[in-house]
Amino acid sequence: MLSNLAGKKVLIRVDFNVPLNASFEITDDTRIRKAIPTITAALDQGAAVILASHLGRPQKKKTDEGQIDIEKFTLRHLKEHLSSLLDLDVQFATDTVGKDAFDKALNLKSGEVLLLENTRFQPGESKGDREMAAKLSKLADSYINDAFGTAHRAHASTATVAEYFKKENKSFGLLMQKEIVNADKVMNSPRRPFTAILGGAKVSDKIQLIEKLMDFTDNILIGGGMSFTFIKAQGGQIGNSLVEDTHIDLALDLMHRAKERNIDIYLPQDSIIADNFSNDANIKVVRSDEIPEGWMGLDIGPEAQKTYAEVIKSSKTILWNGPVGVFEFDNFNKGTLKIAESVASSTEDEAFSLVGGGDSVSAVNQSGLADKISYISTGGGALLEYLEGKKLPGIAAIETEYIED
Ligand code: AMP
Repeated sequence: MLSNLAGKKVLIRVDFNVPLNASFEITDDTRIRKAIPTITAALDQGAAVILASHLGRPQKKKTDEGQIDIEKFTLRHLKEHLSSLLDLDVQFATDTVGKDAFDKALNLKSGEVLLLENTRFQPGESKGDREMAAKLSKLADSYINDAFGTAHRAHASTATVAEYFKKENKSFGLLMQKEIVNADKVMNSPRRPFTAILGGAKVSDKIQLIEKLMDFTDNILIGGGMSFTFIKAQGGQIGNSLVEDTHIDLALDLMHRAKERNIDIYLPQDSIIADNFSNDANIKVVRSDEIPEGWMGLDIGPEAQKTYAEVIKSSKTILWNGPVGVFEFDNFNKGTLKIAESVASSTEDEAFSLVGGGDSVSAVNQSGLADKISYISTGGGALLEYLEGKKLPGIAAIETEYIED
């Protein structure tokens, strides 16, 4: 992170995209807390800090009159809580790159913090608009990107804006650095055996990751809706389970390629099945390739839980993304919770574990095991793209030269 911030104004792009309840109270402040070390480090150097973030998708969820729903998506909802976490009175600008932001940034003093209004109120944000990025850059002398969760987006405040700062005046924040170091650790120097656990709804979202993982894992444990495309590809009867028929050939091809390279892809040998997609459905445990018509697999079964736990237990590096069942329903969250327990217990036995993606992180938090995981990523999509080997726009922009405007 930059160390030349004394007396400077620094624009920090944070990811404050936190969940709010109907009264606009923050229900999980993890993302705000994760950004505090970078903000504090800048303040300790004597900087004046200007914070930019998005919150939700205001452009996609406009009012019936076609207006931005300011009341719902304003970052003002976060001002008070942020003030208490930082133990100072955070100022708020009612716009992002307008007169209020400009005036307040101009008068901001060393040790003070200004929170800008939602970056996505600007139509140019998600288009990576140069005009918006140039205006944003005028608010500060330096730029820090600490928003790993949105680093895969080429938006004005996450990527384009960085092009308006010279190399010596821009950097990653402490959170971003940690995310990169930990993701690099599993990709570049994993201790073996290395096990990846992949769950979630769709195989189509994870194909590139599976292909990439074949370069460096020993075991891939597959669960969740995506497993049924693989099971069907092998000729299994999957009843009404989730399936992507257009990806069956690819699933088969991935399994052949894994075999050639001595990588073990595990599919759940049994499943907890339901007669409809609800928590109150009737339940049975059957072999995953013998699911009757009218029934669907919604969680990995007890045998699979046992096998997966054993593989995880014997691993020295573990990467986990995605729930292995419909984690939102209490009756189908057992497999995912068992994975969380196994990853935590293996970590206690000296394995390195990296968990990323909303539901897997919730499972770890819900089981009270978060402090037993080596690193919990704040990135879902961003982490996956990074692990796939893609250059993330938010990272690339810090590394590029600046442009004169
Ligand atoms: P993703 O966003 O791809 O990580 O997928 C997460 C979603 O997958 C969650 O909402 C889960 O409920 C869902 N999911 C997991 N397992 C299954 C399954 N067997 N059938 C249907 N949906 C599932």
